[in-house]
Amino acid sequence: MRTQVSIEFFPPKDELGEEKLWSALAQLSDISPDFVSVTYGAGGSTRDRTLRITSEITARTGIATVAHLTCVGATRAELRTILEQYQSAGISRVLALRGDPPSGPRGEWISTPEGLNHAHELVHLAASMGFEVGVAVFPDGHPASKSKDEDIETLKRKVDNGASFAISQFFFDVQSWQRLMMEVDRAQIKVRLIPGIMPVTNVKQLIRFAELSGTEIPHSIRQRFEAVADDSTAVARLGVEVATALCQELLDIGVGALHFFTLNSSPATREVVANLGIHS
Ligand SMILES: Cc1cc2nc3c(=O)[nH]c(=O)nc-3n(C[C@H](O)[C@H](O)[C@H](O)COP(=O)(O)OP(=O)(O)OC[C@H]3O[C@@H](n4cnc5c(N)ncnc54)[C@H](O)[C@@H]3O)c2cc1C
Repeated sequence: MRTQVSIEFFPPKDELGEEKLWSALAQLSDISPDFVSVTYGAGGSTRDRTLRITSEITARTGIATVAHLTCVGATRAELRTILEQYQSAGISRVLALRGDPPSGPRGEWISTPEGLNHAHELVHLAASMGFEVGVAVFPDGHPASKSKDEDIETLKRKVDNGASFAISQFFFDVQSWQRLMMEVDRAQIKVRLIPGIMPVTNVKQLIRFAELSGTEIPHSIRQRFEAVADDSTAVARLGVEVATALCQELLDIGVGALHFFTLNSSPATREVVANLGIHS
């Protein structure tokens, strides 16, 4: 069966960033992504841009899209309005997230009066409006969770409220993914799990992202990246090598979908997909 490949972009801040996004998307069109997802900035900072970029992607390329949405800083009524705008723009799939408080994923969650406090509540709202809803899942555990069991209960709640697919945080160890699949099976959660892959291109960024997201960087992988940290070409080459190896291990255990965090740049994702020989 054909491996499903999807890619993620963030809404750029300025014209230059936007040119970069359209150029990356054009470069990635030849791998025929099954969908493109567009993130939603911290604190709702990209609300209008997420909507515009997501609808323009479908208009320009015909590729299916998933628009992200978070609960941060918005009332329930405002979230409903944003979802209505998504619907009017022809967007039918969303990734429903809680989002992070300004102090980061480990910081104390700050409720918005009349807002939503957990992703499952946003899942419920979006599903009740007819959206196909996806959620986040964390192979190495969510940074604020007390245990992996809590993460599974959280995922179950999101699925019980209408989520049909889950995209994971980036990770490096195939065993984290296998453990997640087993726990999801054991809890009889019926959800399509899609592993999130980040081909590393910058070591400082890798360490910052991993700290924020709770991703564990295996010692041997960290050492290999740190050894070439000052050579951007070598980092990019190693990033592709490490991501290709992880993807191959996932394909070998029967995983049928891969989601790439592109950071609005195409070469690394294109190379990994070419190495795997999964899309023409
Ligand atoms: C693929 C992917 C895409 C992402 N895209 C974005 C994006 O576009 N914009 C953005 O700002 N962030 C994004 N994030 C980050 C995400 O918003 C953060 O990781 C956030 O901290 C958690 O969001 P969540 O949807 O998993 O929250 P939740 O599922 O609500 O979980 C958050 C925490 O609360 C706990 N929890 C959940 N429900 C309950 C409950 N009922 N009682 C007690 N505790 C509970 C959970 O166990 C967990 O520790 C993304 C993450 C991933 C993996």
